[in-house]
Parts: sequence; structure tokens; C-alpha cells
Amino acid sequence: GFRCGIVGLPNVGKSTLFNALTETQAAQAANYPFCTIEPNEGRVAVPDDRLDTIAKIGGSAKIIETQLSFVDIAGLVRGASKGEGLGNQFLANIRETDAIVHVLRCFEDDDITHVEGKVDPIADAETVEMELMLADLESLEKRVPNLAKKAAQGDKEAKAAAAVLGQALDLLREGKPARLTVPRDEEEDRLFKQAQLLTAKPVLYVCNVEEDAASEGNAFSARVFEKAKSENASAVIVSAAIEAELVTMPVEERAEYLEALGLAEAGLARIIRAGYELLGLITFFTVGPKEARAWTVTKGSKAPQAAGAIHTDFEKGFIRAETMAYADYVQFNGEAGAKEAGKWRSEGKEYVTQDGDIMLFRFNV
Ligand code: GDP
Repeated sequence: GFRCGIVGLPNVGKSTLFNALTETQAAQAANYPFCTIEPNEGRVAVPDDRLDTIAKIGGSAKIIETQLSFVDIAGLVRGASKGEGLGNQFLANIRETDAIVHVLRCFEDDDITHVEGKVDPIADAETVEMELMLADLESLEKRVPNLAKKAAQGDKEAKAAAAVLGQALDLLREGKPARLTVPRDEEEDRLFKQAQLLTAKPVLYVCNVEEDAASEGNAFSARVFEKAKSENASAVIVSAAIEAELVTMPVEERAEYLEALGLAEAGLARIIRAGYELLGLITFFTVGPKEARAWTVTKGSKAPQAAGAIHTDFEKGFIRAETMAYADYVQFNGEAGAKEAGKWRSEGKEYVTQDGDIMLFRFNV
């Protein structure tokens, strides 16, 4: 599955958010009674209104959401790249994630100690990023010269790797994240991803604001949004305190509480969805009398890969995918109507799965 690592300096609200995420899950999704994989890792359901609509039209007895994992990665302090605090463990944990959810303290509270002495989310973000950049820098300063040597001996792959990682190294030396590297072709792209640089991972900034700023944000979060925009990252506003309160309430009362605060939905739902987008993921659906179910694949996945998300045998024995778009399924009131309207297609192994596709796979066993 896909994993988002929650990082940030101490005392910014990481654990509060992580606990709220896993508790929401425990309360709402009866489909996954065991949601905490490890003490610091939890799987959450990705909220998707389309699933309810499909289940209604298709007469499915239940719905099953698709999931995303969140890992609470504690232990980042200044100097982590030099092994301070839980430094090395921390960096290793980040390496194993697909995206970074970076929590920033955007609330004032004299009772909660700030490790750097004052509330300044931009400075905090830079402190964390600096550690990640230093770790990448150190690894590339060893790797790139080795690759260059091999390239000089005629190794083509090493030549491509040296080119793309050399570009990343230049960026890091200028104090910029490796994320801004532009691979020149598919091979470079592959080698760049394979290098698993920490600062190459997509980033979502979570601005943890005080309760009364939860809908509009505050001056701190405004600056974080500017920063995110300038570096191709995303940002959301959340009040961890509200989220922590919400999960203690009965599900029926939550909507009213949110409305009173001027919020359309819980911040956690926004984090989950933003994480999903950040990872470049799309959803396809399967529907039957037993269940309507959402599945996750990366953008650009072909039909056999989508089949493989359900079962490896489906991918191995893939023959065809029968599919219709979500909008057609709704407009023509289900499979029979969509078929009549000619919206039901039979697609082969080159078909690129689209977000919202309703799929049925034909395969050999
Ligand atoms: P972590 O070290 O980043 O995991 O931070 P925690 O989630 O443990 O939070 C540190 C402290 O800040 C705890 O006492 C929380 O109750 C408090 N805290 C977290 N979020 C908020 C918030 O939005 N507002 C206020 N006032 N306190 C918060």
C-alpha cells in the first residue's frame, strides 16, 4: 500500500493528528476493525462520496473504501542528519514512505513549549528540510563521483544516473530540494526514483492552527501557503485540537459541531484526500450485490495493473476489462442503462485506467 510519513519538530501536534486519524478510522470503518498496523502506523479509509452513490444504484449490501497508510515519524530535531536525537532511525523511516506530511505549528500557546523558542512555521519547515537536504547531500556526494567513474568506463546506466543525480546534487548545493530535479527521459526518471532521495518526495504542509482559525487560517498559515506554492508542494489548514475533540464525539453529532465552527468537513478528511492526490493516486470501483468497493492505482496505470490491485492472478491472467465511467454509471442509472446507452466498453491491456472507472475484469485462471 501507499504510505505517508508524518514529520515535524517536536510539540507541533503530530501525535495529536495521528491519534485522531487512527481513532476516526476505528470509529467509522467497521470494515477494518484492525487499523493500527504498528504503534506508529495506521491505515485510514479514503473518504469518497461516489462510493455511496454507486452502492445505491448497484444495490450493494455494503461499501468498502480504499485505504492509505500514515506513519507517525517522531524524533526529528536539529542535527538529525548528523545522528542527533533519533536521527538515523528517523531518516530511515522517512525513506520508506512515499510522501511527506509535514506538520507545522501555526498556533500560539504559552503552555506548550516550542523547541525553537518561538512560533515560526517557515523557520521550522526550513529546519526540518535542512536536515533532509543534508542527508541527501551527504549520500549524493559519495554516489555521484562513483557513478561518474563508472560512466567514464562506458557504463550507460551509470552515465544516466550520474547526469540526473548530478543535477539533484547541484540543486542541493544551492540549498534546494531534489524534488526540483527535471529528469530528461524515462530512464533518468526511473533512476532518479530509484535513488529514493528524501527531498524528492512530495510534501504536504499541514498548518496546525488554533480552533478559531480552523476555517480561514491565520497569518502563519498564509505564509506556509505562499511557501508551498513557490515550491510545488501542497498545504492544508487543520486544527489538531478540533480533530482530537471530533473523534471523541458520536458520529451523528460531528456534522453539527463542524458547522458551528464554519467547517464543511473534518480536517482529517482533507489531509487524507490531499495525501492521496500528492501520491498521484486515482480510484477505480468494482460493484456487485455484495459490495461496492474502491481501489487505488497510480495515475497512468493500465488495465492489467488495475486488475493486479485486486489480485495478482487477475493481472497474470488478464484478458479484458469491461468498464464504464462513473458519470455514465450515474447518468444511466447503472450497468444495464449504461450498456443500452453504449457507454459500456470492453478494453484491452493497453487501456489506461481513469479515475472513477467502474471495472469488471475478465481473466484466465
Ligand atoms: P508532537 O510532538 O508533534 O507529536 O506533538 P503533540 O501532538 O504531542 O502535541 C504537543 C502538545 O501540543 C500537546 O500538549 C498537545 O495537546 C498540544 N497541541 C497540539 N495541537 C494543538 C493545537 O492545535 N492547539 C493547542 N493549543 N495545543 C495543541
